[in-house]
Amino acid sequence: MGLVIFNTLTREKQPFVPVQPGKVGIYLCGPTVYKPSHVGHAVGPIIFDAVKRYLVHCGFEVRWVVNITDVDDKLIVEAEKQNTTTIELAERITKDYLDAMKILRVDTIDIMPKASEHIGDIIDFIKRLEVRDIAYESGGDVYFDVTKDADYGKLSNRRIEDQAGQRDLQSAEKRNPADFALWKAAKPEEPEDVKFDSPWGKGRPGWHIECSAMAMRYLGETFDIHGGGVDLVFPHHENEIAQSESATDKPFAKFWMHNGLTKVNTKKISKSDADPEMQAVLQQMTLHNLLDEYPGELIRFFILSTQYRSPIEYSQAEIASKRKGLDTFYRLFERVARLCGVSPYEKATELGEPGDDPGAGVASDVLAKSCVEQTALFKKAMDDDFNTAGAIAALFDFAGIINRVIEQEKIESGGNVAVRRAPDAAKADVLTATARLISVARLIGVFLDPPDLQAADRDGLIDKAMNVLIQVRQHVRKNKDFTTADLIRDLLKEQGITLEDRADGTGWRKD
Ligand SMILES: [Zn+2]
Repeated sequence: MGLVIFNTLTREKQPFVPVQPGKVGIYLCGPTVYKPSHVGHAVGPIIFDAVKRYLVHCGFEVRWVVNITDVDDKLIVEAEKQNTTTIELAERITKDYLDAMKILRVDTIDIMPKASEHIGDIIDFIKRLEVRDIAYESGGDVYFDVTKDADYGKLSNRRIEDQAGQRDLQSAEKRNPADFALWKAAKPEEPEDVKFDSPWGKGRPGWHIECSAMAMRYLGETFDIHGGGVDLVFPHHENEIAQSESATDKPFAKFWMHNGLTKVNTKKISKSDADPEMQAVLQQMTLHNLLDEYPGELIRFFILSTQYRSPIEYSQAEIASKRKGLDTFYRLFERVARLCGVSPYEKATELGEPGDDPGAGVASDVLAKSCVEQTALFKKAMDDDFNTAGAIAALFDFAGIINRVIEQEKIESGGNVAVRRAPDAAKADVLTATARLISVARLIGVFLDPPDLQAADRDGLIDKAMNVLIQVRQHVRKNKDFTTADLIRDLLKEQGITLEDRADGTGWRKD
């Protein structure tokens, strides 16, 4: 069975067939750049970065668009509060967002259009609706007449009548209470840089029309996947569909994918074991703070560990549990690098993506079989509505099998005579299998680079200093000063570093 995607529009999983054979267009609603991003802003980009990498692996040519909403009421209010211009505010917050995306390895976005640079497209779009009498001008504002759209409400499963009772939707200028603004007339007190010329006088576009216009500009009138958080289904996406399909008489997006939202679970932060600083970070939750505290790969791994449609529970305990999971892989990679003298990351780059035979080049039956099977399980999970949680579970099993082979074949202590394999051949198999695990994980953008510890310590200073400590400890042990030897071990343990006495000497690892 091929790839199936849960479509919010049909409320079921459907086989994925693109509009044009071999090509996929994706539009994801991006940030409104008025406040520093929080963890929720990272969820969509991380998920769709994984989706894009996987679709590319499946052979599709993918174009992924993420917009920047830099024209919005929220920007005007916040810029005034900060005594700055909306342009300066938008540029600063956009930079903050892009910096975070880089750390999170969201690096497959193709186009990031800004609303402020597409005012012409937006005006043309509104004019198309006006000609058809679906949009109407009223006091410098332009509204969309929802009664002209027979299937309005089909995405969120609402009826127009349900909206009528909402007080904030009622306005004397509108034909119907549920009509929404396509264009908003400028108010005299508003700053000049958000006043754009239009056939209806100076003003600015509404949020919904910005996305429709930019999606069509870069992906065409009908494209494959439109994504966003589940909180955008109504009214944002419902209105995008209404105005787009009313203008073109064609389906807008074929698939609508909505990710669950993050929720902070403060109950899980017990008063006794959480330090106050950490609690503050969790409460405040800006992406910037979070990435000061944790490596980008951990946050990415944390988010991908949940199937995208489920809500992500965000707490210190959850992050700690994912860190433990990630460390299982890091320890295996470190172990294999030590045994084989080659980093499995390097070998993975050489192997490339898993091709037709993921077990190629592995002599050991157990490892060759697990390369094939775990790759297949990973892909099976991804084919089932991009179930990254299931895909990561397959990677865990894969790591477990490799660790067991290292132990059963006694590779660390020079080889198991009973299995009659030359230690070097066994090592080569372990290296190739581990590299295969990494190359499979890379299909969702995990393990692209060695962990941050190494990245931050390019000169190997940490390693050098640790070796000095290990030598001092060996020296005092030789002199039977076990008190000092234990003290060194215990002090390091307090810092989260474990010394491991192995057959080939003492090593260390981060807990
Ligand atoms: Zn949008």
